[in-house]
Amino acid sequence: MHFNAYGGNGAALAAALVNATDFSPPAVEAILTEHRLLRAAVTPGQAGELRVWARRLRPVFGELDQDTQIRLVNELLDVTASKPYVSAHDGREPHLHFFSVDADIVARAKDTTAGGLAMAMSFAGGRRLGRCDRDGCGVVYIDTSRNGRRRFCSPACANRVNVAAHRARSLAR
Ligand SMILES: [Zn+2]
Ligand SMILES: [Zn+2]
Repeated sequence: MHFNAYGGNGAALAAALVNATDFSPPAVEAILTEHRLLRAAVTPGQAGELRVWARRLRPVFGELDQDTQIRLVNELLDVTASKPYVSAHDGREPHLHFFSVDADIVARAKDTTAGGLAMAMSFAGGRRLGRCDRDGCGVVYIDTSRNGRRRFCSPACANRVNVAAHRARSLAR
């Protein structure tokens, strides 16, 4: 895992899988590669396994009850829970791994996402694992803003909510 206080590429991969709508093998491979997993080719069966996994990752984001959020992350770690270790494989800088390099891509993706979410919770706080506040959006993100008060997935969603609020205020006058 490429580490930072927000869970590095593991937490970012978790968010990307939750937000994914296309779980065809090429689309999944592109997401995994973008988040720095090596040997990321997947079969249709493996892509399907990651779609199921993404459903388990989703409730961790935007969960406001800390105890529930901790329990959810621990359940993910329970499934994966390989021993963490440091590696400088393939000429990379030393970085933390939560998986065995020889594990298959599904196991590596599961370990990396569970480990990343656990890191983000432990070092940045669970509120950094956000879900867009606009009704009907549901896109999740890692809040890396300085004040940690991000509420929306994008400026587009923020604008839509602000415009609606403004209109409601004008009507109330
Ligand atoms: Zn690595
Ligand atoms: Zn949104």
